[in-house]
Amino acid sequence: MAAHATLPFSCSSTLQTLTRSFSSRGALQLRRGFRRLPSLAALPRLSRPCRRHVSASAAASPNGASSEGEYDYDLFTIGAGSGGVRASRFASTLYGMRVAICEMPFATVATDELGGLGGTCVLRGCVPKKLLVYGSKYSHEFEESHGFGWTYETDPKHDWNTLIANKNTELQRLVCIYKNILNNAGVTLIEGRGKIVDPHTVSVNGKLYTAKNILIGVGGRPSMPDIPGIEYAIDSDAALDLPSKPEKIAIVGGGYIALEFAGIFNGLKSEVHVFIRQKKVLRGFDEEVRDFVAEQMSLRGITFHTEQTPQAVTKSNDGLLSLKTNKETFGGFSHVMFATGRRPNTKNLGLEEVGVEMDKNGAVVVDEYSRTSVDSIWAVGDVTNRINLTPVALMEGGAFVKTVESKDEVATKQ
Ligand SMILES: Cc1cc2nc3c(=O)[nH]c(=O)nc-3n(C[C@H](O)[C@H](O)[C@H](O)COP(=O)(O)OP(=O)(O)OC[C@H]3O[C@@H](n4cnc5c(N)ncnc54)[C@H](O)[C@@H]3O)c2cc1C
Repeated sequence: MAAHATLPFSCSSTLQTLTRSFSSRGALQLRRGFRRLPSLAALPRLSRPCRRHVSASAAASPNGASSEGEYDYDLFTIGAGSGGVRASRFASTLYGMRVAICEMPFATVATDELGGLGGTCVLRGCVPKKLLVYGSKYSHEFEESHGFGWTYETDPKHDWNTLIANKNTELQRLVCIYKNILNNAGVTLIEGRGKIVDPHTVSVNGKLYTAKNILIGVGGRPSMPDIPGIEYAIDSDAALDLPSKPEKIAIVGGGYIALEFAGIFNGLKSEVHVFIRQKKVLRGFDEEVRDFVAEQMSLRGITFHTEQTPQAVTKSNDGLLSLKTNKETFGGFSHVMFATGRRPNTKNLGLEEVGVEMDKNGAVVVDEYSRTSVDSIWAVGDVTNRINLTPVALMEGGAFVKTVESKDEVATKQ
């Protein structure tokens, strides 16, 4: 198991230390190589309008943080991922709301107590995945370059540890950027795990905060099937932060995440086997795309095993793993990865107690305005299990703020 990095919110010294650990040439290459990432720092700063003072029918803060008849905040957001940060930032900068957001300390692999500013996309999804995709695709270019007249004295070698160390440095930089974004937007950042106590109160590390509206933006985590030996398998969080590159990997799942990891490890010269339950990959995608992607990936040397349902993972004395399916047993894997879906982070969030309805998968049920079954509690992003993509979480966060704001305006006129 890898020793995963953790980072407190006050991260400037940690970042300096990390930066110093690279040579200046290494740091330059890192910056060049990673320059294609979208820079949040480059986003235009929004001017802050005068703050509206919200006084509503509230109980006094149990912290004694506000006077009677007021909430501590207009909006309290649980989870600083794509949706939560977008909503909080817009609520504060565009509408002058008093906003607080809570988020757990940083870790490359999420747990019940660890997460990090930026959320899945930035720390365990889109961003690190793309860095590994960039890293992996050079091998194909080296191969193709021969046809264009390039020759090399020796075959280029890849160093997995360098890629992962530089990826983690980049993540820590992004955590700091997110901290600055929230700070510049005037959003109060509270480190810790949030839990809803009542329709207007959130508890973080035992301290209570009241708010007129509460936004749930806690996202989701990888889910793996409950089969024998599943403890030997890894999920996508772990796959992005392995201590060594897989020699031979079984990837279970036919969705876009499974296939992207197959492409990454194939590019980095691992032997890759993909196991899917269906006849074809990418269920729900365009039929021609499904066929074309599978064909092209096969041509690159990825082996697909179709109509295979995993039943067990076993580990032999030599440390190698086998995957038993409904059809046969495949062995000799250094790693078995499951990319078989994600579940919403709604466990132990206080939702049942406060009456927020959830579906059978634990996703928060919302209406078209992202409102839950409790009037003052809202939810955006993956936790609602609508369309689990970053741009969707961002748009839902922005739309939620507009809804709350227009509702306030209507209420004021009445
Ligand atoms: C491997 C992978 C690759 C992906 N690639 C893409 C891609 O290329 N393009 C794309 O659009 N999408 C991609 N996604 C999906 C994308 O990451 C998510 O849709 C997006 O991050 C959802 O944002 P969110 O705000 O709903 O939740 P998240 O980003 O998951 O944020 C939720 C935050 O809440 C925090 N949290 C949880 N519980 C609590 C609590 N009780 N108290 C305080 N904080 C809490 C978590 O730590 C986390 O930081 C990918 C996902 C994965 C896993």
